[in-house]
Amino acid sequence: MSLAEKSKREHCPKCGSIMMSNYILVRPGKDVEVFVECAVCGTFTARYGLHTYTSEDPYRSYLRMMRHRRFSSGADAKKKSKEFSTSLWEDYEKVKKIITDHEETRPVEDLLEEMD
Ligand SMILES: [Zn+2]
Repeated sequence: MSLAEKSKREHCPKCGSIMMSNYILVRPGKDVEVFVECAVCGTFTARYGLHTYTSEDPYRSYLRMMRHRRFSSGADAKKKSKEFSTSLWEDYEKVKKIITDHEETRPVEDLLEEMD
């Protein structure tokens, strides 16, 4: 495994639970923000700012992100869309595998600082 691949579940800083509620804030002209709250004790746990948001329908997400881009051909767009979707499911499987094999225990801030 490379140094850059770390994965962990979010843990409540107060009670340690991994049961979380995600509140998604969408505002015009701003990146999507996700506020993570412990579903057990209600403690604020984290906020994520997202440059991209991908739903369970990656084709739709891809089309939204690409709305302002130009492709040389429809075939090119279709190929890129397929790659985007493949990459999503691969990364999703990867993050779960890393957590199963050797989940990180350090805070995400530590992981981010390590990658600077
Ligand atoms: Zn909690």
